[in-house]
Parts: sequence; C-alpha cells; structure tokens
Amino acid sequence: MNTIEKLTEIFKEFPGIGERQAKRFVYFLMSRNSSYAENLLLLIKDLKKEITQCEECFRFFIQDNHKKNICDICSNPHIDNGMLMIIEKDSDLESVKKSRLYHGKYFILGGLVPIVEKNTNSKIRIRELIEKIKKNKELKEVILAFSLSPQGDHTDMYIRSQLKDIIDSLNIKISSLGRGLSTGTELEYSDNDTLKNALKNRQ
Ligand SMILES: [Zn+2]
Repeated sequence: MNTIEKLTEIFKEFPGIGERQAKRFVYFLMSRNSSYAENLLLLIKDLKKEITQCEECFRFFIQDNHKKNICDICSNPHIDNGMLMIIEKDSDLESVKKSRLYHGKYFILGGLVPIVEKNTNSKIRIRELIEKIKKNKELKEVILAFSLSPQGDHTDMYIRSQLKDIIDSLNIKISSLGRGLSTGTELEYSDNDTLKNALKNRQ
C-alpha cells in the first residue's frame, strides 16, 4: 500500500465516511502546504494529550484540573442525580446537552449491540453500568436513549433484560426515548423539538 492508500484506509474508519470521501480528504491534504499538515498533526497530538475519559460517565473531556478524572457534568452539584440517561456515544451527549431539556446524569455505553453478536459484553459497558446503578442511592429513573434503528431497538431490549433484576429490586423506573423519534433518527442529529417530544413521550 502506498501513502495515499494507507491514509484513505484511515479516513474510511471515520464515522460516516466512505471510500470516495476518504479519497477526497487525502487529495485535499495533498493540495495544502506543509504547515497545514504540521498544524493538523500537532492538534491531533494535543487532543490525545489533553483528553481524559470521565470515570463516572465515560465521556471524553478536556481536563482543566489535573487532579480529578470527573467531567464537568458529573461534578456539577446542580445535576439531578435521580435521572440517568444511557446513550451510545459522546456526540449523542452533546446534542442532548445542547438542547438544555435534560438535567440529569449520563452514561456512555460505548456502542450499540449488534443484532448478530455472541460476545456482547466485550463491546459495551454493561458491567460498569450495573455498578453505577448499584452505587447511586438517589436514582429514580433510567432513560434509554438510542437511535431508532433495528440496532438501537435491539440494544434497548438487551439493556432492559440485563438491568431487569437490579431495576426491579431497587424500584427504579426505566423508559426509552426512542419512541418520540421517527424511524432512522440518529439522536446526534435530532433538533430541539424532536428531542423535547422524545423526552416528553418516553415510555
Ligand atoms: Zn462524567
């Protein structure tokens, strides 16, 4: 593989990027001068250096205080500790946070459960989720907020089955946000009205 092909392969791994777009990125980079490439390299390196994963919700954040590994949402005393929204990925959290409609805590699952999959637990943070629910004595409701797609539905069902015992024993309500979204909607791209409806109509 030459450099163009290698770089194309890397861009193809980016979310939503296919072969043709990946190639366009490579040609774009070729057309820029070398300081552009150096700046890009530097920013990628800084990103990896500055970013920390929150110990509580598993989102990535830029740490301003080097002593703690807890993000600004999890350490915010005004956050409603009685609500926990389970989402697939960081970009979903950004959309919900930006909507200012939800004021509870979050948990990033780290992926969806593929419909044909034998070893599910290696892909998502189900063990960590159960631990988190056990530890939070104030928890009243768990909201499952996955995209309304076959894989999102499958993940919803899977999480419900995995949490059933603990939810029942601690008398916690469980609801799904997906019902208020239209089919195929990615949480990440939902507008405020859609999110508002989805939150209001969760079941
Ligand atoms: Zn956090």
